[in-house]
Amino acid sequence: MYSKIVSLRFPATFVNEPISANLIRKFDLTFNILKATIYPRKEGLVVMELSGRRKNFQRGIRYLQSVGIKVESVGEDVKRDEDKCFQCGACTAVCPTGALSIRRPEMEVIFDKSKCSACEMCVMACPAHAMEVKFDRTLLD
Ligand code: SF4
Ligand code: SF4
Repeated sequence: MYSKIVSLRFPATFVNEPISANLIRKFDLTFNILKATIYPRKEGLVVMELSGRRKNFQRGIRYLQSVGIKVESVGEDVKRDEDKCFQCGACTAVCPTGALSIRRPEMEVIFDKSKCSACEMCVMACPAHAMEVKFDRTLLD
């Protein structure tokens, strides 16, 4: 089983395509929507965890791209300012996916973008304001 958290950006001109049904029926994929901001007749953003066999996953991504959806790894929208981070570890207590964790015995706080769901819990927990989740919101205005 292969699983990855991805962001889907829908163009304003997106035609009504049954993508949920197709991901399930044609590619045998399951998904869990973590965040959705869709405005009628404007660009939209959906963050989801997409799971299935690796080959089907890749075919499903190609299908989404073929209907005009931009697909990215969501971790690319989350950044840690290494100059501000002082390795306190507070963020690891709230991160629900294990993207932030402590490597022992060094006690170094590791950020694994590939596990990040962009939930923004760490943004609120970080005393140094080192974590930033920045979707390209200009797309949504
Ligand atoms: S946004 Fe922060 S708390 Fe949420 S999954 Fe990503 S690293 Fe973890
Ligand atoms: S809470 Fe902030 S300062 Fe502390 S380890 Fe996490 S990112 Fe670094």
